Amino acid sequence: MVETDYLIVGQGLAGTWLHHFLEQAGKHCLVIDQFNPYSASQISSGIVNPITGRKLVKTWLFDTMHDFAKPAYLRLEEMFDIQIWHDRNIVWLLQSEQDLNNFSARSATEGYAHHIAAVERGNWRNGFQSAVGYAEVKGNYIDTTLLINAYRKYLQQTNQLREDFVKTDDLKLLPDGVQWKDVRAQKIIFCEGYLAAQNPFFTHLPHAPNKGEVLIIEAPELQLIGHLVKGGAFLVPLSDGLYWAGSQYNFDEIDENATVNGRLEIETALQRMLTVPYTVVNHWAGIRPSTMQRRPLVGIHRQFPQIGILNGLGTKGVLMSAYFAHLLSELLVHNQLLPKEIGLI
Ligand SMILES: Cc1cc2nc3c(=O)[nH]c(=O)nc-3n(C[C@H](O)[C@H](O)[C@H](O)COP(=O)(O)OP(=O)(O)OC[C@H]3O[C@@H](n4cnc5c(N)ncnc54)[C@H](O)[C@@H]3O)c2cc1C
Repeated sequence: MVETDYLIVGQGLAGTWLHHFLEQAGKHCLVIDQFNPYSASQISSGIVNPITGRKLVKTWLFDTMHDFAKPAYLRLEEMFDIQIWHDRNIVWLLQSEQDLNNFSARSATEGYAHHIAAVERGNWRNGFQSAVGYAEVKGNYIDTTLLINAYRKYLQQTNQLREDFVKTDDLKLLPDGVQWKDVRAQKIIFCEGYLAAQNPFFTHLPHAPNKGEVLIIEAPELQLIGHLVKGGAFLVPLSDGLYWAGSQYNFDEIDENATVNGRLEIETALQRMLTVPYTVVNHWAGIRPSTMQRRPLVGIHRQFPQIGILNGLGTKGVLMSAYFAHLLSELLVHNQLLPKEIGLI
């Protein structure tokens, strides 16, 4: 029998960060993950955007999560000698006088001003359709694929990963822990992304998974190295003239199939944004593990204290994963209670 402190199910952003913080606290964990090249963490655009929506509202807990997550990501950069965290202004292409006025007002609002680098009338750059104006918001791009893959290698090299799928039927609840196959642990923590909605221990939670499709395009005439662009779609520069383009929100089709309609929706937005030619080189679909209240699902099961969850990271997985994985590790290791607003489970 193999003994470990915690079994972590899933190695997306949630499982990766939870493993990191528990390891830092001196705990031993075994991660069980069935690799999925279309998991949310693999195909995410990795954008950290302080201001969202038509009403230009600041992301919930943004400053707290950002202040915590940045040094944590930088520590992992150092550990693996890779660059994951990039400071990037997000250029919002503004199509109406009202959008321009709203941004001007926001740039003078307390708590928002330091996030907005510029609000200007006129076109931003060649290569883009004309617009009434543009705003530059201070944001970040996080290379989540690079991080997940580097961390996976580390787990493999240190014998802390098993490539397998955890079925709850294979789980035995013991008086002082759990057993899965030949492994015994004090607790099992599910970091399953959207599949948590099918986990019988957690079907009562307010899951609201939604699908997003993504195009990888080649646009050699677009020189976008240091910026991210937000028009009808988001454009994120990758490398070698490639761009991530997407994404929409589909709450009805919860599968990882890339569709003709999904591609059409993104291409329509791109044609309204760009004046330069592009070709589509890849098309993917993935599922965001969102919740009805747009709040994460973090904690220990009320009836079964051997079982926990870190989920519901929704559209903000980059910041939430680091911040809430740390809070969960503090609960597990030091019994430190979670803030009330996230004690959802
Ligand atoms: C198109 C798209 C764009 C996005 N863009 C952004 C963005 O710009 N910024 C941002 O902050 N967030 C973004 N997100 C959201 C972000 O990617 C997610 O919130 C985050 O990646 C979720 O991480 P996770 O670890 O909870 O789940 P996942 O990434 O889905 O990982 C779950 C892992 O667990 C494995 N697994 C599941 N069940 C089992 C089981 N029973 N046994 C073994 N393995 C299992 C899966 O195979 C997978 O590897 C985006 C998401 C999508 C889909």
